[in-house]
Amino acid sequence: MTHDQTPALLGGQPTRPEGPPPWPVADVAIQESLQKAFAANTWGLYHGPHVEELQIRCRKIIDQPNFALASGTLALEIALKSLNIGPGDEIILAAYEYEPTFLTIHALGATPVLVDIQQDNPTLNPKQVAQAIGEKTRVILASHMHGGVADISLLQKVITDSKREIALVQDLSQMPGLDPVPDSDFSILSFGGSKPLSAGRGGMLFCGDTARCQKAKLQLYRAGHQWGTLSELQACVLLPQLEQLKPHAQQRRDAFQRLNSLLREVPGLRPIPTPEKPPLADYYKVGFFFESDAFGLSREIFVRALRAEGIAFSPGFRALHRGRAANRFRKIGSLSHADLASEHLITLHHPVLLAGDSALEQVASAVWKTYRNAERIREAALPTQAQLRFDD
Ligand SMILES: *Cc1c(COP(=O)(O)O)cnc(C)c1O
Repeated sequence: MTHDQTPALLGGQPTRPEGPPPWPVADVAIQESLQKAFAANTWGLYHGPHVEELQIRCRKIIDQPNFALASGTLALEIALKSLNIGPGDEIILAAYEYEPTFLTIHALGATPVLVDIQQDNPTLNPKQVAQAIGEKTRVILASHMHGGVADISLLQKVITDSKREIALVQDLSQMPGLDPVPDSDFSILSFGGSKPLSAGRGGMLFCGDTARCQKAKLQLYRAGHQWGTLSELQACVLLPQLEQLKPHAQQRRDAFQRLNSLLREVPGLRPIPTPEKPPLADYYKVGFFFESDAFGLSREIFVRALRAEGIAFSPGFRALHRGRAANRFRKIGSLSHADLASEHLITLHHPVLLAGDSALEQVASAVWKTYRNAERIREAALPTQAQLRFDD
């Protein structure tokens, strides 16, 4: 069979005309769970059995007291509020991070302290964290990011060595299937619409001990009424997904390996390495370092070309210190790796990892097709405004 090798960006046939696999997947178990809640007439309750059940079953992810919330961002805010974080306090986080996390710190009037990431892993560099700790440091916030696992045990040691009272908050939003999850004072999970465990919106806060959990929960009470919690309907769609978390995480890990072997020889494309020791990673936005000189296209054009092929690549985040007034944060060192990540990271959205070998082969063949046609694409006069075929 011969394929039309004209890039879809230049009018050729897309590799995946149907676009990326839909998310969440249409799952009969979810439908049945909704029907059961309907039949039992429990779906409209303020306090019903599904949220309770979800909280109990989430102890299989981390065996710590927890409660379900309206979003992952809210879970972070509640954790910080329960620590009385406010003006004058400093929170250490990576300069390459999810921007709403940074803005949550501002929302409480505290100061973000930006630290560089590791060379080939977009998570906190523990050595630089040690340098960043000072009188005002109250929290270290570590996110597992793009398939890179944060070194939680080393960060814990940095805190112990500092002899200060500093809380460690770990953000699992991009890695719900991290296995096993290391201990920390608080852990955050997101059930947002694009996440591996999805209820459209939602989150979970895990607390290192019962006292912390009680204190955090108090932040949700307004005159006996709880605001910002997860609904019964949301818990209802999450329960069957939770059953699948471990097998799906393993499937994503296997698919990541398979994809890497298919992409290994592509010039200018380098995956974030798999951790050498446990815990095992999970994948949400799968990160790759993209070198435009070696590939022959700018990162932006690469992403547009792949999206035209029906493959959900995106540019990574903009580092938090870039394009932002210097009085909005304190920074440690030159943040050079965060700058590099800001310029070179691309991510692949996770649903394709569960879509089977042929879908992974399509990703690889779209990347190769784009590489082979790089010169043609460079020479084409492309409109500057990207045409997005889909939204992830
Ligand atoms: C998605 C995400 C969150 C939380 O998102 P919500 O939409 O508020 O649930 C937090 N941190 C990171 C790194 C994320 O990717």
